[in-house]
Order: sequence, then structure tokens, then C-alpha cells
Amino acid sequence: MRVIEATEAAQTHVRERDTKSVLVPTMGALHRGHLKLIHVAREHAGKDGEVAVSIFVNPLQFEPGSDFEKYPRPEAADEKLCEEAGVNLLFRPRDMYFDDRSVYIEETSLSSGLCGAMRPGHFRGVCTVVAKLFNLLTPDAAVFGEKDYQQLAVIRRMVRDLNFPIEIIGVPTVREADGLALSSRNQYLNADERTQATVLYRAMTRVKELADGGQKSVRELIDAAKGVIASAKSARVDYVAIVDAVNLHSLETLRPNAVIALAVFIGKTRLIDNLRLT
Ligand code: AMP
Repeated sequence: MRVIEATEAAQTHVRERDTKSVLVPTMGALHRGHLKLIHVAREHAGKDGEVAVSIFVNPLQFEPGSDFEKYPRPEAADEKLCEEAGVNLLFRPRDMYFDDRSVYIEETSLSSGLCGAMRPGHFRGVCTVVAKLFNLLTPDAAVFGEKDYQQLAVIRRMVRDLNFPIEIIGVPTVREADGLALSSRNQYLNADERTQATVLYRAMTRVKELADGGQKSVRELIDAAKGVIASAKSARVDYVAIVDAVNLHSLETLRPNAVIALAVFIGKTRLIDNLRLT
């Protein structure tokens, strides 16, 4: 596995590369969710292709007062996991941004609700860093998790609208046995909070049950989700929404292609998840 830490070295590497390349962008603290993405990347790259993983805790996507400083950065363990997973290139840039940078990429429709409404500037930071990674590593394809449903939609839109010649591959969410979606932020949870964190999945599956049983009122469904979440003493709802799977508009009445998306604080830790309802 080759490790590159400078943007110029990345550009030299891609000029000399003559294989198909598939990129998995991450912020590190790798877990089985990331490993699934790496596995899917290998399937798409082929055995002789390049699987590239980027690890960069992107300051631009953390709003002021959030967890940028304390975000876990277990570099040696991440490098070992990448090596063992058969990654060909680990890109861990140390010089990503110019101090006087003045160009950003902003998606203006899909980013406006859900996490975008709660985290101003977040998707501008995501789009800007992903566009930079695409330019630096020029992958043929890139793999993203459905765990970050809005992010995947926003990236697909950026690629479409700006004509990046890159295939975007979505991968279903990897969960613990009790339904909790794997996340680097789960390690912030103490034992009691970890138990309570199952409330996100329990709320979503309750809503799916009601939807499968014929409940079409989104207000009723969201109230049911909030009722489940209220049963966990350390849980505080950031948002619960039922949206169209493609344009992410909020629905009033359930119809095909609906997704429930939620963000819930468990203590100080903000967790997000989503589930297809129809
Ligand atoms: P992150 O390091 O949290 O920025 O995530 C990097 C990529 O891994 C994103 O495309 C995420 O959607 C994806 N990802 C994170 N957690 C999971 C999970 N539990 N299952 C599948 N993909 C995930």
C-alpha cells in the first residue's frame, strides 16, 4: 500500500497511473461500515485496479462549536486496517487548503433541509472537499454510504450538475446486531448512552411498521417516532423528517419512495440515521 500525504505527490501519482481507480472518501476512525465501502470499491476496481482511501478530517464541514478538535484520529490503526483490507493508496493529505482560499462549492437545493438546516455550511464543506479529492485523485468511481443519505444525494447532484466524469456508488448502511448504525462518533458514547442509542433504529422500524400497516399521515408517523425517542432519557431530537427519496422534500402524506431521516442527540453525541419506508 502506498501512503501519500502531499497534494502534489497525489497529482504525480495519478499522472503515472494506468489502471481503473475507485475512491472511498472518509474522515478515518475506520469501522466495519468503511470496510464495506472498501470491499465494494474493490469489486468495482477489479483485482488489478486501484482502491484509494482518503482520510481527512475536513475542518470546512464542521460548524463552529462542533466536534472537530475531538474527532478521533487513530492514524496508525487506520493505516493497518487499510493495509489489511487490500487498499492500494491511502491519501492522508496534510496540505489540503490554502490559508487564503476563496472558492467553494455549494449545492443549493438538496442541502437546505435535514442536516443542512441544522448544520449551516456543512454541505458546502462536504462538496468542496469531495470536489478537491475528485480533482486530486481523478477516480473512475467513488463509493459513499447510504448512512449519510443527504450527503449521498448532494454528491450525486454535484457530480451531475458539474459533469464530474465519476460514477457514484451508494452502499447500504452497516449496523450493529441491535440496529445501531456504525459510526465513528459511536465511540463518544458511554455504556449507558450506547444502550440508549438503539432508540434511533427502534423509532425508524416502528414508523416502518406503522407505514406497512397503512398509516399514511406523516404527522402521525413522526409523532410515533418522537414517542419512541422520548423513551430514552438521554435522547433529544434534532430533527425527524419523512422525505421524498430523490428530491428530499418533506412529505405530508406517505407515498412511494419515502425515507425517514433523523438526527438525535444521545447526551452530547449527535447521531444520524435513515430508513426507506416504501
Ligand atoms: P465518515 O468517515 O463518517 O465521513 O464516512 C465516510 C463514508 O463512510 C461515508 O460515505 C459514509 O456514508 C460511510 N459510512 C459511515 N458509516 C457507515 C455505515 N455504518 N455503513 C455504511 N457506510 C457508512
